Amino acid sequence: MVVGEVAEGVDLLVVGGGPGGYTAALRAAQLGRQVTLVDRDGEEGIGGVCLRIGCIPSKALIEVAELHSQVAHGAERGLVGDVRVALPAFQDWKNAQVDGLTAGVRQLLSSAGVRVLQGTFRFTRPGSGVVRDGDGPPVFLEYRDVVLATGSRPMPLQGIAFDGERILDSSDVLALDEVPGRVAIIGGGYIGIELGTALAKLGSSVTIVEMAERLLPAMDGPLSRPVAKRLDQLGVRVRVDATASAFDEGELEIVVAGETERITVDRVVVAVGRVPNTDELGLDTVGIRVDDRGLVIVDDDRRAAPHVAAIGDITAGPALAHKASAEAIVAAEALCGKPAAFAPAAIPLVVFSDPEVASAGLTVDEATAAGITVSVHRFPLAASGRAATVGSRDGFAQLIVDAEMDAVVGVHIVAPHASELIAEAVLAIEMAASPYDLAASIHPHPTFSELVTEVAHLAIGVPLHVRSATGRTS
Ligand SMILES: Cc1cc2nc3c(=O)[nH]c(=O)nc-3n(C[C@H](O)[C@H](O)[C@H](O)COP(=O)(O)OP(=O)(O)OC[C@H]3O[C@@H](n4cnc5c(N)ncnc54)[C@H](O)[C@@H]3O)c2cc1C
Repeated sequence: MVVGEVAEGVDLLVVGGGPGGYTAALRAAQLGRQVTLVDRDGEEGIGGVCLRIGCIPSKALIEVAELHSQVAHGAERGLVGDVRVALPAFQDWKNAQVDGLTAGVRQLLSSAGVRVLQGTFRFTRPGSGVVRDGDGPPVFLEYRDVVLATGSRPMPLQGIAFDGERILDSSDVLALDEVPGRVAIIGGGYIGIELGTALAKLGSSVTIVEMAERLLPAMDGPLSRPVAKRLDQLGVRVRVDATASAFDEGELEIVVAGETERITVDRVVVAVGRVPNTDELGLDTVGIRVDDRGLVIVDDDRRAAPHVAAIGDITAGPALAHKASAEAIVAAEALCGKPAAFAPAAIPLVVFSDPEVASAGLTVDEATAAGITVSVHRFPLAASGRAATVGSRDGFAQLIVDAEMDAVVGVHIVAPHASELIAEAVLAIEMAASPYDLAASIHPHPTFSELVTEVAHLAIGVPLHVRSATGRTS
């Protein structure tokens, strides 16, 4: 602050109203702190990317696309008749769901006494910052503690700049009111796969362009195979080892093995990653360090400096909402003087693809690199009665067991509803459950959850619905 500026005192400041920020605000308020939350978009920003333009809208689109696809291709199962997609009606319905959820969070914050300020925060010096909102007067704040949760934005691609019309980011896709005819998705990571699958099921002709040698390069290889197979069945073209270099007059130029190809499309979706919103926070003025990707470097208790914590997409680790909110609780508790550390044994990774892919704990390679001798067991989806009822065959549940400790250290599932099944796996890993614990826990029939107990039976040598134990040790 300089002479003439009047600063307001703030007990605990939270910057960002996403799942990281609002969770930190609620936890700090529970612990008796007077909390002020500032978001660029004020009350409208509450919910952040996840609720407003990410997790929730994308899952709503995926669900409606799945319904459309089921009915449109359901003749074999006795579903006959035409079904049409009216995206404007979908948008109204989806926006109502999002509005309901964000209003709920605003209500929680209000009940907890959290004050919400609108504007963009920037540090001015240790202990102080300024909030600016358009042409309005700046608001100077002096905080005791601050939690940074400013999230991330889509990474732009050189030569293929977002224009919101023909070159879209994920938010543009989720707001479409017309199903595009021909679409190229640049990026075969989880966001690209989810959006590409949904658009294909809604009737778009989709090409996915991925720079790595396979889809979902951040996940273990075998997990992506059933997804690639299903995309092929849906008519999605996949170009791997391919780099998109330009888009001009409806032609996307890609380079595959040194050869240039052109794909004629109506829209291009760029989903090549996310950039942390740390560049305009003035972090250097308070001595906070970032890594070469702009991610804030933090200790186990999420502290980046004595009174500053950072959480969510602006820090290392998977850029996922549940990671942000788990870190938020640790950050709030640490800043309130409680012993706290973020050291999970497993953060679930989920792709809402078809079939869904979900992963928790170690992969075989990670276990091997850590010097752990593991046995690996895989139960095929084709042997599941519940899977048969939805006509799904390609997938599996895989258990990775620390052979010495007899403890589950990794679970990887490719199956319908894998996103739900993985929660049990996280609990098993966190509690160092043995395969016997999983096998002896009675699972309801017929459900996909039986995949977990089936693979556990396999691991203890008493397989139920497959012929022999196929575990291998590595
Ligand atoms: C299409 C899509 C689908 C996704 N699906 C899933 C999913 O299924 N599951 C999952 O776990 N994750 C999903 N994610 C990721 C998830 O949305 C993010 O990991 C999560 O939102 C990160 O939370 P956050 O609190 O770190 O930040 P954000 O949610 O990004 O919120 C940051 C907030 O900070 C505000 N802000 C930024 N800078 C400033 C500033 N200087 N001053 C004041 N305010 C500021 C922003 O306005 C924003 O409201 C998805 C993301 C996308 C894009």
